[in-house]
Amino acid sequence: MSLTAEQFVVSLDERVNDILDACTKCGACASVCPTPKIAGLTESPEELGKGIVKILQGETITGDSKAWAELCCGSGFCQSVCEEGINPRFMLSMARRAINSREDLESRRIKGKKAFQKMSRGVRVLSRLQLAPDILERLSPKSHPGDKNVPDVVFYTGCNMLKTPHIGLLCLDILERLDFTYEVHGGPSTCCGILQFRPGDVEGSARQALTSIKKLTKSKSSRILSWCPTCQIQFSEVALPTYEEILSSTFNMTMFPNFLLENLEKLKPLLQQRVEKRVALHEYSGELGVVEAVKALLDAIPGLEVVDLGHRSAGYTGTALAPMKDYLKKSIKGTLLAADKLNVDILVGIYHNDHREFSGHEAAWNFKVANYMELLGESMGLDQPDIFKQFKLMGDVDAIIEASSELILQHDLDVETLREVIIQDMLDDQQLPVEKSQHPQ
Ligand code: SF4
Ligand code: SF4
Repeated sequence: MSLTAEQFVVSLDERVNDILDACTKCGACASVCPTPKIAGLTESPEELGKGIVKILQGETITGDSKAWAELCCGSGFCQSVCEEGINPRFMLSMARRAINSREDLESRRIKGKKAFQKMSRGVRVLSRLQLAPDILERLSPKSHPGDKNVPDVVFYTGCNMLKTPHIGLLCLDILERLDFTYEVHGGPSTCCGILQFRPGDVEGSARQALTSIKKLTKSKSSRILSWCPTCQIQFSEVALPTYEEILSSTFNMTMFPNFLLENLEKLKPLLQQRVEKRVALHEYSGELGVVEAVKALLDAIPGLEVVDLGHRSAGYTGTALAPMKDYLKKSIKGTLLAADKLNVDILVGIYHNDHREFSGHEAAWNFKVANYMELLGESMGLDQPDIFKQFKLMGDVDAIIEASSELILQHDLDVETLREVIIQDMLDDQQLPVEKSQHPQ
């Protein structure tokens, strides 16, 4: 039996009706949420809860409840407080859907399509700019089941991680060292549907998510390892409950570092090289268990000294903070200043978007920037060069094109498109300006 986008939308509506039946408007979710305080919202938690219910009922609300729904950064403090069993993060995403549905469908579809095309172009071009075809092939959808019929895991890269492909290659290297067979999925053809969902093209998003679920489940592997927290939340909270309810079928999606932590005893003997560095981790306060997992993995690296930055960014990842730009900039600046003060050798990021942001800052500070997978790799004797950072630090589009002339030929890349992508998706993809004089006070 297959699931259609229309059935998917009906199921979402039913889930919203269930929320409306259950929600007592107690405001407990709003009272633990960091977003109202960061955004300077003044309505009480009860009023915020009441406003969200009204939005879900189709009323036009313009006050703080609307702002709360639009700014929710997904940290998930609300996840454990609702006595009625509601997931408030999902409730707020349905409130955003209701708000967006006031705009005509065609405009929403166009916005989703444009966002998808931009992401797709950035991923395609930046991954090719860094890796030769045979190496990039490793990250392309393909099965590596060894002599097994079903691979042990599916490694799901998501889309944007492929802009920093050395991270994905390290994930595969480590799976191989751990003796796990795998199948790779990801890239724009297996997108989670978030880019259509954000502007309110729910049917388009459902079509994309269902296509991806079909691919992810085809291998019959019982474990799907996701790299990207946005994909994880979009699948596990929006798409999978519907999929599971209608098809009575289920699959397990686990964040990659959480899986590594599960296999820590197997991993430890492989961490042979000492990494004599003092490092700090840029942490988020999301509830996916990722920060704790990454910290435990770093603690297992011999020789590594991990110091605490003394602050955690709200949100489950940086991109979730995009609607609160001022806070996002201050949070990044806070991390850079704390890392400097603590005299670390390396500022460590968790996600691909952290790496894109912090790479640009490396030249302006006395520490290096790396993803935690690079440190695990170093301890295991694995190395995948970080071409993204090398190019970003060059800071010059012509120099980057010159340095990658061989790959441009091999992939037959159009130089004008390349120039645009390097500027938009690499050099200008900076939330906090690198120049310190432009930092917020
Ligand atoms: S979602 Fe739950 S916690 Fe939030 S207002 Fe409704 S009943 Fe209260
Ligand atoms: S996910 Fe975070 S920001 Fe969103 S409502 Fe829950 S606590 Fe607030």
